[in-house]
Amino acid sequence: MHEIIIRKSEYTYPSLRQSIFEIMDSLGGEQIHRKSRVVIKPNLLAPASPDRAIVTHPLIVKAVVEYVLDRGAAPQISDSSAVGSFDRVLRESGIKEALSGFKVEYKEFKESSLVDVGEPFKKIEIATDALNADVLINLPKLKTHMQMVLTLGVKNLFGCIVGMKKPEWHFRTGVNREMFAQLLVKIYRALNPSITLIDGVLAMEGQGPGKRGEPRHLGVLLGSQNAAALDMTVCRMLGISPDTVLTNKFAVEQGLMTDDIIVNGELPRITDFKLPEVTPLVFGPQKFHGVLRRHLVQRPECDNSLCKLCGECWEYCPAKAITRSGKKIHFDYDKCIRCYCCIEVCPHGALSARESLAGKLTRKMLKL
Ligand code: SF4
Ligand code: SF4
Repeated sequence: MHEIIIRKSEYTYPSLRQSIFEIMDSLGGEQIHRKSRVVIKPNLLAPASPDRAIVTHPLIVKAVVEYVLDRGAAPQISDSSAVGSFDRVLRESGIKEALSGFKVEYKEFKESSLVDVGEPFKKIEIATDALNADVLINLPKLKTHMQMVLTLGVKNLFGCIVGMKKPEWHFRTGVNREMFAQLLVKIYRALNPSITLIDGVLAMEGQGPGKRGEPRHLGVLLGSQNAAALDMTVCRMLGISPDTVLTNKFAVEQGLMTDDIIVNGELPRITDFKLPEVTPLVFGPQKFHGVLRRHLVQRPECDNSLCKLCGECWEYCPAKAITRSGKKIHFDYDKCIRCYCCIEVCPHGALSARESLAGKLTRKMLKL
């Protein structure tokens, strides 16, 4: 049985703390003891204030830290942010301030160990601290994701791939979303977090997971020992098929969903949550894939009035498809693999994904 604990909540202490303590108790938090190495992995994508809904809320991190300290263990907060220094993300997210006075270690994931996850990826480098934790607590934010539709429990652990290894993996999986989803499930299985607790109090809808997304109040916390079951439950809550999030499909295929899901608490029904428009990346006859993708598939575009030429996008782009050209940036759409990482990391919300009219018409004709 995969138990999902659901609690209505707001970012108000001490009621939030009480809800989180209840959830942690129900999910086997008592296994944490004085000698446990406890690593807490929030979503710390980029420097952003809590009201932008980009990072896990500081009060959620605070309540989990308090829980771990109450059990006598020493908590470590870790991630490998895509944008900005780790210290800056901790400060701007409000986590440093919320945790002032608590005995907690902040440690960016920097070292990796090779893990054989089997075919087709074989050996993957994953953050050593996350692998060696006795208790890994996964704290995702409920957000939309331009490439994977939603980023939830399973996807959050991609942050345990250190630094520029992340865009490397985007490049290796290329335009194949299914392959990327399989990779995410393999990483999840290798890490096997003890508890996953999703921050769905202030979620993100629209063109997430970065600055183009829109905060959306849902007022809910969801926890489980099985992140895949949790992700499926979020899909149910949002009224979408679980297979819309491809990691769910591969979690089933890889044997992670052998039991029934039991929901403890009231699952809200949200009918108007705005998902990103995710178009297929490969369609039509194979020999035309290249040309169809170049001209018809949704592609990143820049609003030059917002672009500050900061360079985050071209530094991160796994395909090296972005260059600076005078006072503008230029995309090489032949090279672009449509991972939308550039949109995710742009600190100024200057990038968005657009589909051409020709693309829309073609998809309509092909009924995609
Ligand atoms: S598009 Fe965004 S990330 Fe890229 S240079 Fe402009 S402001 Fe920076
Ligand atoms: S241009 Fe953007 S969408 Fe294209 S490969 Fe680079 S980061 Fe990915």
